[in-house]
Amino acid sequence: MQETPFKVVVDHFIQMEDTTKRTELTSILAHLFNSVKPSEIDKVIYLTQGKIYPDYIGVELGVAEKTIIRALSKYSGLSEEKIEDEYKKLGDLGDVAKNVVQNKKQMTFFAQQLTINRVYGVLEKIAKTSGKGSQDMKLAYFMSLLNDAEPDEAKYLVKIVLGTLRLGVADYTVLDALALAYAGSKDWREILEKAYNLSGDLGLVASTLALKGIDEVKKIGIKVGRPIRPMLAERVPTAKEALEYMKNGCIAEYKYDGERVQVHKSGNTVVLYSRRLENITMHYPDIIELALKNIKANEAIVEGEAVAVDPDTGEFYPFQELMHRRRKYGIEEAMKMYPVTLFLFDIMYADGSQLVDLPLTERRKILWDTVKKDERVQFATHIESTDPKEIENFMDQAITDGCEGLVLKDPASIYRAGARGFSWIKLKRDYQGELADTLDLVVVGAFYGRGRRAGTYGTLLAAVYDKDSDSFYTVTKIGAGFTDEDLKNFPKLLEPYKIPHRHARVISKMDADVWFEPRIVIEVQAQEITLSPIHTAAFGLIKEGAGLALRFPRFTGKIRDDKGPEDATTVTELIEMYRNQKKKALTNGTNP
Ligand code: ATP
Repeated sequence: MQETPFKVVVDHFIQMEDTTKRTELTSILAHLFNSVKPSEIDKVIYLTQGKIYPDYIGVELGVAEKTIIRALSKYSGLSEEKIEDEYKKLGDLGDVAKNVVQNKKQMTFFAQQLTINRVYGVLEKIAKTSGKGSQDMKLAYFMSLLNDAEPDEAKYLVKIVLGTLRLGVADYTVLDALALAYAGSKDWREILEKAYNLSGDLGLVASTLALKGIDEVKKIGIKVGRPIRPMLAERVPTAKEALEYMKNGCIAEYKYDGERVQVHKSGNTVVLYSRRLENITMHYPDIIELALKNIKANEAIVEGEAVAVDPDTGEFYPFQELMHRRRKYGIEEAMKMYPVTLFLFDIMYADGSQLVDLPLTERRKILWDTVKKDERVQFATHIESTDPKEIENFMDQAITDGCEGLVLKDPASIYRAGARGFSWIKLKRDYQGELADTLDLVVVGAFYGRGRRAGTYGTLLAAVYDKDSDSFYTVTKIGAGFTDEDLKNFPKLLEPYKIPHRHARVISKMDADVWFEPRIVIEVQAQEITLSPIHTAAFGLIKEGAGLALRFPRFTGKIRDDKGPEDATTVTELIEMYRNQKKKALTNGTNP
């Protein structure tokens, strides 16, 4: 059978970039899936998300801008300076490539049409080339595609290799589109999501569906080396309310303020994944050693929180300090300055047995038997209790010990990968005069500043996430809490996500000066949640003609690198926070 031309993919990319409607985005994607061969579908999914493998593989294309500039110069005969000038003018190397190819194409005739398989194969070669002289090799590979590319193909090839493709197609959008494209019964969407939750690989789920059918998708399970999407906690304001959900007793554990780490061990190999399923092995060479030494099983997947501990005092460092580990260079130094202790709280797999469907009490027993405890590898501090007073006291102790609060867990609950539910409930400290919890908001736009902030952004437009519509709804403009350093850094941080119009998954009544692809998540503290006619979060759900907004929002200084946009605070959580605040105000005798 003939291979599908790459042009088919590119034509759909153009449509996706043009749309401002989420439903349209899904149906264009479904149409794309129907237009390619089953054996090509995984490749198409990765390419649509601007990658060639699922994130957890941790392989990047690693092509420098300079390499593309050289390639375009070689291809066109124009000088590199001329290409750079064009780049400055157009602001996007993809657009430069499109023009350059357009101008030359009128003179050449012998191009061989690019196919999805050929493009993907060359991209794989580019990704696998590393070390000295690799940019030259990458350039040569890239040129081989460029020579046969049509103008629009060139544009998207450049965007893919530079990592600047901004279609904003999230995992849920892909799952929706798959269900739509292969339209089986209603429960297919759920089956697909479950397989994705356990395997962390959309390409695998899609190709299994396309090539072998839904019954095989049902069989996709846990495998060491493939990250499992994490189970998440709901939140409630008080221990008493939390206990109402705990019908089978309650295990209260410290909620450590570090980075969640999923440890995969197989023989002598250890791989670590973050909360967003990125491969973070290189950030924690010390955890590798600890895992090899302390995990007794040959094959296991365990989960815990890595916390930076002051080597002099044994006290916990705050989360920000741990983020020093998230850099490419100087890991050795960071490791010495911020040594971590791993506090384990779950186990999902051990020597051939999938453990996620066992009750928590059994999983913990297996965890304790499988892992040897020492100073740097510990089990989360816990009590078993259904007495609210006792839990409140334990909470005070957790906070004094440098934790964020507690996670209460139902002892009978299974590990529900990728789900946020009431089997785990987090309790956090109640700040006086402020909301009990911070919010994690997605930056979707910005407004230019004046005065001291002239030339940079004055305020950011931030949004909450809604899972049902897979969209982002604005909840606040935020300008407070930024240090001078932040003001300098934010434009740089956001630059790669700039897009020419509001993103199709962003619902806003405001017209920002600059729009971004929803990507960067920041932590925000606010004094209160109020009704607002201009913000779209929970619009019409509490009151007709009004949404919810934040009063006195302030950036806490935390950029949540460990969260993806779909992990941000949701509309449902926002409504819950609004209701809790109202309840509290009533008991205090004040008006919200
Ligand atoms: P937050 O922003 O409050 O950290 P989150 O959205 O990252 O929340 P939640 O599921 O809401 O994640 O809260 C649980 C998080 O708390 C986990 O992702 C994990 O990183 C952390 N954590 C710390 N200690 C524990 C523990 N004992 N059990 C489970 N999770 C824990």
